[in-house]
Amino acid sequence: MDHFNYRDGTLHAEEVPLSRIAAELGTPVYVYSAATLRRHFGLFREALDWTDHLVCFAVKSNSNLAVLKLLGDMGAGMDVVSGGEYLRARAAGVPGERIVFSGVGKTLAEMRLAIEGGIRQVNIESEPEMRALSGLATSMGAEVPVAIRVNPDVDAGTHEKIATGRSDNKFGIPIARARDVYAEAAGLPGLRVVGVDVHIGSQLTDLDPYRAAYAKVADLARALRADGHAISRLDLGGGLGIPYRRDNNAPPLPLEYGRVIRETVGDLGCEIEIEPGRNIVGNAGVLLAQVIYLKEGAGRDFLIVDAAMNDLLRPAMYGAHHDIVPLVEPRPGAGLRRVDVVGPICESGDTFQKGAELPVLGAGDLVAFRSAGAYGAVMASEYNSRPLVPEVLVSGDHFAVIRPRPTFEEMLARDSIPEWL
Ligand SMILES: *Cc1c(COP(=O)(O)O)cnc(C)c1O
Repeated sequence: MDHFNYRDGTLHAEEVPLSRIAAELGTPVYVYSAATLRRHFGLFREALDWTDHLVCFAVKSNSNLAVLKLLGDMGAGMDVVSGGEYLRARAAGVPGERIVFSGVGKTLAEMRLAIEGGIRQVNIESEPEMRALSGLATSMGAEVPVAIRVNPDVDAGTHEKIATGRSDNKFGIPIARARDVYAEAAGLPGLRVVGVDVHIGSQLTDLDPYRAAYAKVADLARALRADGHAISRLDLGGGLGIPYRRDNNAPPLPLEYGRVIRETVGDLGCEIEIEPGRNIVGNAGVLLAQVIYLKEGAGRDFLIVDAAMNDLLRPAMYGAHHDIVPLVEPRPGAGLRRVDVVGPICESGDTFQKGAELPVLGAGDLVAFRSAGAYGAVMASEYNSRPLVPEVLVSGDHFAVIRPRPTFEEMLARDSIPEWL
């Protein structure tokens, strides 16, 4: 459930008409709902209330400082995958002891940042990384809590670009080799082994892959304890999917996901960490856009909007679907028109939806791309020299700009021309 609904014939975010935001700030613009963020974070907390836990928001899904602050103030931990994300979490007021550092290619400079600033746990993804971290921590006189990310060779049943738990993906250490790697970790200075980490992919719509992966993690944790390791934490990753289509079967709820966790690893008495991103912020955001032209082509019509693949990359990158709805509520029984919804960028991939059945729209009409809060603004670029899309946070009857749209001057001022040209 989200807080984007029609009221008095016009689409609102909570109590704010989205047309008001578009009028004040222009389009395209991302709009997030604070109430939806709070609700979704609360659902994960409830799902794990049977045990010690920390819900670590996956910062890569939406790293705006205001979003991080809102969740951090509710007690969220943060899952970061770069030095920049670590600094964002800290800047949003999240203490190091609630930040987990994931990612396959952490550099020494990034790990140094985290050790200096304080870190709850580093999730190690390879033996070379483990040795590098050991050397760094030792040179800094630190002892870093670590979990080792294992690759359980489970097919998450999701898009190949966001599946991470199969043996042919670059992530984690093959689970069959895990005991040897833990043995080496235990002997390395500067590291303190605290747990096991796993993350099998994103936009999972079925709980069975989780059940399979977590059962393997439970077996491994038992074996590691028998080997003498103090396994007190399990980081079970993120990935729970969201409904991108209103008319589709909804993916499982956080509560059902929590039950699978309890059934598979609950008896180990470990503190549980999870790293949801999309499920917290995906349906808490929309991208507003305005129709520039309705263009009649040969056999198909194009609705050209002022948002493009540089603002919302998911359709071009994953063939992803976002429901597109008009800001003015369609009258019951109003006619539909079949259109391809496209952006202005000079790429055929700049297509949001082919053959969309939309109410009849024309130049100047406003639309919202739903479910755009996760992997939306964070993947935006200035391709075609389109200024970076701004972001707005709504709470109740008010809203604030949480990232302004750069002016053309600001955009140009970032380049410099060498004096020898
Ligand atoms: C991307 C990622 C997540 C978050 O995935 P969602 O599908 O957004 O929940 C969590 N953990 C790790 C290690 C990731 O790479």
